Amino acid sequence: MGLNLRDVLACPGSQLPFRHRLEMDRLDFPSVLSYLEAPEGEGVVRNEAGTLTLTGHIRARLRCACDRCASVFETERDIPLDVPLARELQDEENPDYFLLEGDELDLDDLLETAFILGMDGRFLCREDCRGLCPRCGANLNDGPCSCKPETDPRLAVLEQLLDDK
Ligand SMILES: [Zn+2]
Ligand SMILES: [Zn+2]
Repeated sequence: MGLNLRDVLACPGSQLPFRHRLEMDRLDFPSVLSYLEAPEGEGVVRNEAGTLTLTGHIRARLRCACDRCASVFETERDIPLDVPLARELQDEENPDYFLLEGDELDLDDLLETAFILGMDGRFLCREDCRGLCPRCGANLNDGPCSCKPETDPRLAVLEQLLDDK
């Protein structure tokens, strides 16, 4: 969607609110099984003394597979937006501006980019997920599995001696 900013550009101090749903089929992440609803960006474009800034956030509700234990869980992400806009690149050393096409802002492109950056990081069913046992594959969140802990080879020799008695 193109957001026409002509009126905002023409009038310092003005602002334009926006609310826009993202296309889910373009937001594919290995850990995301599905979106419970389309992620939605909401916020405002402000003209402060001739400088345009878009602020707001993208909210998403998703069903994910845990990166450690593969269990399926639902979670929410709230990705903050704070993006300076410009009609042309003004400062080569500060290329963080999102460029407009004339008076138009490509809102899909901006929100998609921000969403992809914001989805960086791991998807864990909980912060301290214990993951799966590397030997038997049991989910260690359900409790310890029956695998014996790895023993020190020197202790193993000792155990062998004790067993022989
Ligand atoms: Zn997990
Ligand atoms: Zn095990």
